[in-house]
Amino acid sequence: GSTVEVDPGVEVDEENAEDDLLGGLKIDSTADIEVPDRLVDQVIGQDEARDIIIKAAKQRRHVMMIGSPGTGKSMLAKAMSQLLPQEDLQDVLVYHNPDDGNEPKVRTVPAGKGEQIIDAHKEEARKRNQMRSILMWIIIAIVVGYAILARQILLGILAAGIIWFIFRYTSRGTDAMVPNMIVDNGDQRTAPFEDATGAHAGALLGDVRHDPFQSGGMETPSHDRVEPGGIHKANKGVLFVDEINTLDVRTQQKLMTAIQEGEFSITGQSERSSGAMVQTEPVPCDFVMIAAGNLDAMENMHPALRSRIKGYGYEVYMDDTIEDTPEMRRKYARFIAQEVDRDGRLPHFEREAVEEIILEAKRRAGRKEHLTLLFRNLGGLVRVAGDIARAEDREYTTRDDVLQAKDRSRSIEQQLADDYIERRKDYELQVTQDGVEGRVNGLAVMGEDSGIMLPVMAEIAPAQGQGQVIATGQLKEMAEESVQNVSAIIKKFSDVNLSEKDVHIQFVQAGQQGVDGDSASITVATAVISALEDIPIDQSVAMTGSLSVRGDVLPVGGVTHKIEAAAKAGCSKVIIPQANEQDVMIEDEYAEMIEIIPCSNISEVLDVALMGEPKKDSLVDRLKSITGSAFDQQAVS
Ligand code: ADP
Repeated sequence: GSTVEVDPGVEVDEENAEDDLLGGLKIDSTADIEVPDRLVDQVIGQDEARDIIIKAAKQRRHVMMIGSPGTGKSMLAKAMSQLLPQEDLQDVLVYHNPDDGNEPKVRTVPAGKGEQIIDAHKEEARKRNQMRSILMWIIIAIVVGYAILARQILLGILAAGIIWFIFRYTSRGTDAMVPNMIVDNGDQRTAPFEDATGAHAGALLGDVRHDPFQSGGMETPSHDRVEPGGIHKANKGVLFVDEINTLDVRTQQKLMTAIQEGEFSITGQSERSSGAMVQTEPVPCDFVMIAAGNLDAMENMHPALRSRIKGYGYEVYMDDTIEDTPEMRRKYARFIAQEVDRDGRLPHFEREAVEEIILEAKRRAGRKEHLTLLFRNLGGLVRVAGDIARAEDREYTTRDDVLQAKDRSRSIEQQLADDYIERRKDYELQVTQDGVEGRVNGLAVMGEDSGIMLPVMAEIAPAQGQGQVIATGQLKEMAEESVQNVSAIIKKFSDVNLSEKDVHIQFVQAGQQGVDGDSASITVATAVISALEDIPIDQSVAMTGSLSVRGDVLPVGGVTHKIEAAAKAGCSKVIIPQANEQDVMIEDEYAEMIEIIPCSNISEVLDVALMGEPKKDSLVDRLKSITGSAFDQQAVS
């Protein structure tokens, strides 16, 4: 690959680079950072994808890019267009066909030539019209002169009008001579880049407009109604299609034909329009295709199209995070400079503001020692922060602006979750210091980046016959599974046979959209044990974790967001799986609000959550003895 020097002209303090959030970059603000000219050199991370793009540009191969939104897929596609040779560019002209008006002719000329041809034709048409005008006035003069002589003035005026009318409405015939330039690369500095994401058939494959006046001298000649599609405008360049599976199957098929043939006739796409009668000669569409989407999109695209692209090109996965190194952090500083540059109106970022963005990139990675590569979102934060500074006419964007921006650019889910907490306060559902039997503060993730507190209640009643787990909503399956897991443990220390009981599980106010409860199984287990043994649970504790049948607490996703949600809701302690300890990256303001307690076993969880010795102590001891030893032989995960 080609590694690019980050920022020529900026000194780096190598000695302290490791500990510095900016990787030792000696700058006062992002104004000191030079932004590379070529887009491909601006791409941060995604080394593999970048190398492939460079290689594919040389070989003119198609590329399939699979990965999360906002990681640079379209940026790389555009970058590729800058790498393709510009000498090959062409203009495409559509001409009237005197033999068959419904099959316009197509001519391809080197870029820039098209305009000359059009000008020449226009000039000719102008001269012709001028001649016609002169001719018309001569005829009118003769007719009117003759009428005056014959003392028939009215008749003369009438005749003049008729002559004028005839000339006026037959002059359109001369337009037919001027070709229609559908692809104009005259001013193009690089090979074209066409983003056809979400394009309908006409926009992608070209179209012929409907003509409301199909006869009587009023019609627009068919070649003038021809409109190019993305595939034609991308000729000799790049056609980028994101979420390719959203193209309908017929369109995908046609796209495949276009790729195979390298040319594609334009016809009217709407069947009942007059445009559908028109079909041009083949129009060149020799492009490199970059198809993008998430894994799901790829699996749902037309298999023949997929294998076509794959067979003649490359497939590459985009990364979501990248290892946090001083060099990478320096690049993230450059990222801010790039975004400020691109926007053109944002004030540059002060050093401390850059630090805050890099911290945020660490946090959003959700992984220790990593930085997020979801740059579109990060760029959004940069723009909101810059806008705040700009609104106040300041020269630089400050750390304070970034903090404010973070608050403003909360995702919809985050806003919902905050709103939800607010609302819950009204209903006095918030945290208390009391102990309550069978009620646990669970934690869940909404959307991608917001935590939410989700209380769980368990109640146990004798069953009529075979016991059941009774839970409602989308979390039913998870509830059943966790009860099953905990019943294996309960069997070992209690006389109660859970299978003879009905276990009711209620997720309090879990009517929320998009709540993922996958990781609440220690919550359910704790609630069930508490209800079964009549031992109250400390309501100032919240918890998240998955549970194995042997009582191990297993790691879950989204711990950082969950901890923040617990803190916001007013909890003083939060239990997380020990294995997730390294993923915690909470913000300072929350770190002071809440104590994080990593646990690896359900006995430890209960030790923290249950209240009221001595009953609690004896239970925890019993649990310790069985989950520690009795289960060790069974290698169940
Ligand atoms: P995708 O096509 O994967 O959804 P884009 O390429 O449209 O994402 O990215 C949106 C914006 O985010 C880009 O215009 C660029 O400003 C920024 N961006 C995305 N990925 C990167 C990257 N790897 N390096 C630098 N900037 C990036």
